[in-house]
Amino acid sequence: MNISTRLTEAAGQYGDKPAYYFEGEAVSYAKLDGMVTRFASGLQEMGIQKGDHVALLLGNSPYFVIGMYGALRAGATVIPVNPIYTTAEIGYILGNGDVKGVIALDLLVPLFEQMNGQLPALEHVIVCETPPSEQKQNFRVEEAVIRTKMKSFTTMLSKEYSSFSRPELDEEDTAVILYTSGTTGKPKGAMLSHKNIYRNAADVADYLKMNDADKVVATLPMFHVFCLTVSLNAPLMSGASLIIVPRFSPKEVFRLIKEYDATVFAGVPTMYNFMLQYEEGLKEDVETLRLCISGGASMPVALLKGFEQKFNVVISEGYGLSEAAPVTCFNPLDRPRKAGSIGMNIVNVENKVVNELGEEVPPNQVGELIVKGPNVMKGYYKMPEETAHTIRDGWLYTGDLARMDEEGYFYIVDRKKDMIIVGGYNVYPREVEEVYYSHPEITEAAVLGIPDPEQGEAVMCYVVTANPNLTEEMLKEYGRGQLAKYKVPSSIEFLEELPKNTTGKILRRALKEQVAGKARS
Ligand code: AMP
Repeated sequence: MNISTRLTEAAGQYGDKPAYYFEGEAVSYAKLDGMVTRFASGLQEMGIQKGDHVALLLGNSPYFVIGMYGALRAGATVIPVNPIYTTAEIGYILGNGDVKGVIALDLLVPLFEQMNGQLPALEHVIVCETPPSEQKQNFRVEEAVIRTKMKSFTTMLSKEYSSFSRPELDEEDTAVILYTSGTTGKPKGAMLSHKNIYRNAADVADYLKMNDADKVVATLPMFHVFCLTVSLNAPLMSGASLIIVPRFSPKEVFRLIKEYDATVFAGVPTMYNFMLQYEEGLKEDVETLRLCISGGASMPVALLKGFEQKFNVVISEGYGLSEAAPVTCFNPLDRPRKAGSIGMNIVNVENKVVNELGEEVPPNQVGELIVKGPNVMKGYYKMPEETAHTIRDGWLYTGDLARMDEEGYFYIVDRKKDMIIVGGYNVYPREVEEVYYSHPEITEAAVLGIPDPEQGEAVMCYVVTANPNLTEEMLKEYGRGQLAKYKVPSSIEFLEELPKNTTGKILRRALKEQVAGKARS
């Protein structure tokens, strides 16, 4: 159970078929597999061995695909990192993750110079040339490679290596460590074994019926596990072709879907929102899509329906988390999808809703979602206590509140920690947000709890709208028509935009800080 070995098998099966398209070029399975082995040989030659940690600091590009599969083939553990993190964030992950080698965009080379000496385990930096269209700084890779530790990715790939020795790997060996954003404290590294990664990709491919006729738009960030499994590993296991999109924009995505007759699109709700707002996007552009996938954050029902109606497609929502490699639930393809639901157990994975004592609750009752399956992580890197708290009796406690209906469809109610308690009543921000998303003139909404001297907490809502004539009172009235009294926001503020991360999750903590900062200034 190793995705890199599986790629070699796929190369045997699909040989000349394009594994990916990037910037107008098609690269076959056989060619990709050859590059992966060459890169793995280069890593071995520089001393990277089984168990060494290699971080990827890359955007969406063939570098990522070759780098990840190559490092795995050499027996290394891969740590994908968001390349736009700050120096401090990157430094923390590379240090905590005991990283020996880094594969990074050339734009990031100055950052390694700043960190020089602070990362004793770091021995190699492999530098990738940013495509000219993306270059923002006047930095040339040749200047970088002269410095110690640095090597050029392209040079490594162009060399001939006398031999490659395939390391002995076990399915329980760690394949990937994903640093999760972490709601409190420092990020934690979720260790995913080869089995975790392989099984989840295979089970997702099976559930979503991915096959060698598929062309999958890979526009989600590859360093995030949603893309890694759903838009990269699952398609490459199935003989499908990836359409690699370096940077999401509605215009580019519509263009690529049309140009390549894409069949599968996976995005986070914010992407669907941008695509729906993009006036030049047409139903005809996307008529080859057989499947639209949403995940990573809750998909507002109004947005889902608006998108489906305008583009004549069906969006299948799924759910996952880094600690589960990531997918646990998806709307099935052979039954109607339910709007607002994350779907049902995927193959081999069990989801359950439990109370505070860990006992399963009856259908429609809200509790914490827990998960069991071959996709559940080994634990957090160097954090045994956190691991013991998160995985109990083989069940992964997700920290998400959910309910299940009589037919076995799950619904995420909200994050456990985001629940607001108003005078003893529970308010789930998501329910209030859904109401405001259904307002025709509101494009984004986020709800927070704020301290209230009488009720303990009060509901505060932030909205984004293009209509300057909307007032707070009009929106409260709108809420009163659809929500119990205690759920109606006690105040509503208008913002130009809401802070979000790469998977479209609204950063409620950052929003709180932003609002507090505004109040002080
Ligand atoms: P990450 O580890 O970055 O993938 O984040 C995982 C978290 O994203 C989950 O614990 C959920 O809170 C959230 N999430 C993922 N998919 C969904 C979804 N379809 N609906 C609601 N929340 C989601």
